[in-house]
Amino acid sequence: MTEPHFTPLSEASRRALIAVRDSAYAPYSRHPVGALLITESGRHYLGCNVESANFKGLCAEAGAIGAMIAQGEREIVTLYVIGPGHHLCTPCGDCRQRIREFATPATVIVVLDGEGNPLKHYTMEELLPDSFGPENLPPS
Ligand SMILES: [Zn+2]
Repeated sequence: MTEPHFTPLSEASRRALIAVRDSAYAPYSRHPVGALLITESGRHYLGCNVESANFKGLCAEAGAIGAMIAQGEREIVTLYVIGPGHHLCTPCGDCRQRIREFATPATVIVVLDGEGNPLKHYTMEELLPDSFGPENLPPS
């Protein structure tokens, strides 16, 4: 298996991702998260977590995917996730499935530290092995 490759974030993108993380609405968990995804067209989509008092908040990755879908794109090339500290802020289980819907075998998920430096990166297969996807459903 070949090592997945990803393009390091430009300084402007790193700053944009930190800014969107810092815009997160996370009064309950106090765990702000930002996500930046890049599509085949090269466009960037940002998202941050948005919590609510019933504890059914929206993850940063879900926000970025929603923005991508709203613009008519469907394929994630690279997804960067940034949390508040130096620990791995990997996508949650729900988001792994959500990312999987729009990932390819070449998609790379990069987890950054709080300053935007890469800590670890994954293929979709590494993040969600033997996953269930659209091809597992019968043709409509
Ligand atoms: Zn999530």
